[in-house]
Amino acid sequence: MTALSDVTILVPGRLNPDTLAELKTLARVVERPNGDISDLSEAERASVRGAAVMGVVSAALMDALPNLEVVAHFGVGYDGVDVKHAVSRGIPVTNTPDVLTDEVADTTLGLLLMTARRLSAAERYLRAGRWAKDGHFPLTETTLRGRSVGIMGLGRIGLAIAARLEPFGVSIAYFNRSERSDVSYPYFATLGELADAVDTLIIAAPGGAGTEKAVNADVLKRLGSDGIFINIGRGSIVDEDALVAALQDGTIKAAGLDVFADEPRVREDLIALDNAVLLPHVASASRHTRAQMGSLVIENLRRWFAGETLATPVPEAQKAGLVKRP
Ligand code: NAP
Repeated sequence: MTALSDVTILVPGRLNPDTLAELKTLARVVERPNGDISDLSEAERASVRGAAVMGVVSAALMDALPNLEVVAHFGVGYDGVDVKHAVSRGIPVTNTPDVLTDEVADTTLGLLLMTARRLSAAERYLRAGRWAKDGHFPLTETTLRGRSVGIMGLGRIGLAIAARLEPFGVSIAYFNRSERSDVSYPYFATLGELADAVDTLIIAAPGGAGTEKAVNADVLKRLGSDGIFINIGRGSIVDEDALVAALQDGTIKAAGLDVFADEPRVREDLIALDNAVLLPHVASASRHTRAQMGSLVIENLRRWFAGETLATPVPEAQKAGLVKRP
């Protein structure tokens, strides 16, 4: 058993400031906000036994840290972490599930309403003084009334989105790799079939190779000209060229996006579109929820070095039995 106070934790890239401040009171922290550790001496690199990170952890970064034992990721989606490499080196990765589920689901409903009822455009209209000058904001062509919603990724967040959608009186269906036995929503075995069946598609699935550009021109066409597309999963799940084209030429009606292919850069042709609502990856970004995520990051680090079972190892680490310090 090792106390966290005896351990050096690397924080490559940016981390929630409150979490970073707390971590600094508990452990020795080496910060590299730009993610570059090339200036660390060999002795400094050798002293690092844990990493707390929001975003990318490459194989090269792990290999530059010979005594790295554990990677605690801030966020439930850990597609930026090379987990395969971590596991091959016997390094467990942890993430922050559950504590952000409600916040992300709340934001998704907000984004859906903003998109269907053009609420951000309406607010811009008021602030530009156009209400008094030009009269009422135009009636929206879209509404949630009578909509059929498909969810790609009916996991923790997808289920919380579905629960919030139920009182809105919309129909709900889903696509996962496997059908759930605990819900009665209609299941579709492919994304294309789901898109055929609904007019509103919400993505709440993880990024990574398995979902790369799953939402392509064909899926958007099948969603149809009244289609609303919402993505709070990962930008990599969407072919952004196809999405921009579909929004420009009326293949679908509108999109609400919290995630993008090349964050924090958002393409100009997307920004130029009036039928897209764009949020800067804020689905879990409240002080309250980020504090809970930070506590879980720190709790995982504490447990690892204390020789206790990790609170939230990712499935790949669980499968490899990497849940407790040997
Ligand atoms: P989760 O409980 O693991 O749910 C993931 C769901 O996606 C599962 O239902 C899974 O079902 C499905 N899925 C996985 N791979 C798939 C594939 N290749 N094709 C189709 N479905 C697939 O995870 P969660 O906690 O709900 O989080 C989901 C994701 O939301 C995260 O990974 C992250 O990318 C994103 N997220 C975004 C924000 C944000 O700020 N915008 C915040 C939090 C989370 P099967 O295993 O049966 O396929």
